[in-house]
Amino acid sequence: MPIYEYQANHLQKACAHCREPFEVLQKIRDTPLTTCPACKAPIHKLISAPRVGGSQSNFDDRAKAAGFHKLQKRGKGEYEKQY
Ligand SMILES: [Zn+2]
Repeated sequence: MPIYEYQANHLQKACAHCREPFEVLQKIRDTPLTTCPACKAPIHKLISAPRVGGSQSNFDDRAKAAGFHKLQKRGKGEYEKQY
């Protein structure tokens, strides 16, 4: 089941629950939430990366963000630093 992130439209009017992005576990067919379950303030869905699976490029991004370097082999005993 995918996890969706929501946050209040108007942070000034938001409660402690929806002021920060919060995660909601929903079925694909469930209608998206439009109001905070705690204070009924209008909320919107955040675009976030899927938590499961992921392509190689996502992996590269995460590795890069984590400070890893990727080495591409360029022939015999020769490596090129890609980032
Ligand atoms: Zn709220």
